[in-house]
Amino acid sequence: MMNNVLTVDLEDMSHSRYENASQAKDDIDGPFLDYSTNQLLDVLDRYSAKATFFTLGVIAKKMPSLVKRIHDRGHEIASHGFYHKPVYALTPEDFRHDLVDSLTALQDATGQKVYGFRAPYWSVTNRSLWALDIIGECGLAYDSSISPVMSFLYGIKGAPRFMYKHSKGFWEIPPTTCAVLGKLVIVGGGFYLRALPYWFTRQVIRSLNKDRRFGLVYLHPHELVNQRSADVLSVGEYVILNFNKGSFRRKFTGLLGEFTFLPIKKMLDVS
Ligand SMILES: [Zn+2]
Repeated sequence: MMNNVLTVDLEDMSHSRYENASQAKDDIDGPFLDYSTNQLLDVLDRYSAKATFFTLGVIAKKMPSLVKRIHDRGHEIASHGFYHKPVYALTPEDFRHDLVDSLTALQDATGQKVYGFRAPYWSVTNRSLWALDIIGECGLAYDSSISPVMSFLYGIKGAPRFMYKHSKGFWEIPPTTCAVLGKLVIVGGGFYLRALPYWFTRQVIRSLNKDRRFGLVYLHPHELVNQRSADVLSVGEYVILNFNKGSFRRKFTGLLGEFTFLPIKKMLDVS
């Protein structure tokens, strides 16, 4: 049976917001993050699924025991940056610091080397391609930051839809995509997993697996427990953060029941 890749963006709900995204947010709702992550870990155990947790440095610094627990339960800890700032909002120097600080905090929490990075908001775009040099210089084995689907926040038009190797020698793992009525959409994660019908997501992953390709599923712990932000949100942010959240657990556990999932580092066999 073909394996697929499961990824979690481990962040506070305030980090998932995109308005004021370039502010450093270190005011984490620790008890809620702890609760929702434990729920997720229990669900993953029930289905014997293992995931890559793209974790913020600020969380590793403030809640090292949570990060250690995720690691000890057999999941991969990778970097989601330190403060969840979009890469294109940073200078190359600031990005390097943010990334290096996150790697240090994560490695301190688990005692284990970090192999991968996912930019907040898939924010490696044509404006921030310089980030790839820095990611390579940090010795990472893979990146998961470039979306071939365009939105107002992210995307590189024409970027490859399936994993590929950068000239620096590390892998790029794009989100799973599918053409719908001639338009490319992301399938199997966040807003798109909540918005698209379950049978559609399942069909896309099945046909990928038939072609010997893996699907990539991604989520945030707050989606699983159907928690909504207490902040006052604009209509756009409300929809992106909360749309159809009530369907999330059913769809996610449906996928866990139907497919097998590995962390990215296992899929790539790096160590
Ligand atoms: Zn994120």
